[in-house]
Amino acid sequence: MTASIIDGIAIAREVRAQWQARTAALKTRGITPGLAVILVGEDPASQVYVRNKIKACAENGLRSALYHLPAEVEEEEVLERIRTLNSDPTIHGILVQLPLPPHVRSAAVLETISVAKDVDGLHAQNIGSLLLGRPGLYPCTPAGCMILLDRIGAAVEGREAVVVGRSDIVGKPVAMMLLARRATVTICTSKTRDLASHTRRADILVVATGHPRLITADMVKPGAVVIDVGTNRLPNGKLAGDVDFDAVKEVAGWITPVPGGVGPMTITMLLANTVLAAEHLSAAPIRS
Ligand code: NDP
Repeated sequence: MTASIIDGIAIAREVRAQWQARTAALKTRGITPGLAVILVGEDPASQVYVRNKIKACAENGLRSALYHLPAEVEEEEVLERIRTLNSDPTIHGILVQLPLPPHVRSAAVLETISVAKDVDGLHAQNIGSLLLGRPGLYPCTPAGCMILLDRIGAAVEGREAVVVGRSDIVGKPVAMMLLARRATVTICTSKTRDLASHTRRADILVVATGHPRLITADMVKPGAVVIDVGTNRLPNGKLAGDVDFDAVKEVAGWITPVPGGVGPMTITMLLANTVLAAEHLSAAPIRS
């Protein structure tokens, strides 16, 4: 079997078009969704991610504002910047690019962002809403993974879903989203004994570990849907996922490439959350 490739770029384009229509509707009411991005320090990868987010805003009719703070900034100054943005009516979404320098506590930063403007969906209250099935702003990468599954028509209910990785940003929330759709969910960590015995059961396999090519063909059930979140820079400069794409595509039914799979969906869901936040904050009817 050769898997069908899940084209994240094409799917992201379609989803963005839907959200552009909602942005246009807001603009007719004099509201332009605005995203504030706070970047601390000079990490080159973070700078690229931030640049891409700012560019995506411009391409999709959103306003953005970048606050680039020096690496040695006091934590309190970051918190004060967030408080100012929380009360700025032209800003509907606030994103703090992670990771932060060690002296700036991520938890304190994330909890200071207004729940209604938390477009990364990482505030404890938004994570709680996800867990409880309440409306809220949900984490972007997991939300993007779910849209990819829906766009290929993958059945989720009653299926075996295995998530490899338990980070707050990807593993845990995507597991919650799969559970909400009544998949039978297994979460694997670095301490899981016999990882392959779990992954081989998966009808849906989501991998987010940061270990290039951790998942090999013998670890995948024939016909499975494989969503590779991993984005790893190899010594030769190329990007690779956590899945051995060339070998696994001969076994899986569907597979995301890296790049061009999950990555474009992450930024798309950031735009979507910003528009959703703008709708909510301007008291327009909210659609999920
Ligand atoms: P973290 O480092 O926060 O978490 C990695 C998780 O993987 C941990 O839970 C860890 O387990 C688990 N893990 C590590 N090694 C193994 C192993 N051998 N077997 C099973 N589980 C293992 O990473 P993130 O979730 O933030 O990111 C994961 C990957 O996804 C990275 O490559 C990152 O760049 C990428 N990413 C891509 C995004 C996109 O938009 N495409 C967005 C976000 C991330 P333990 O908890 O036991 O340590």
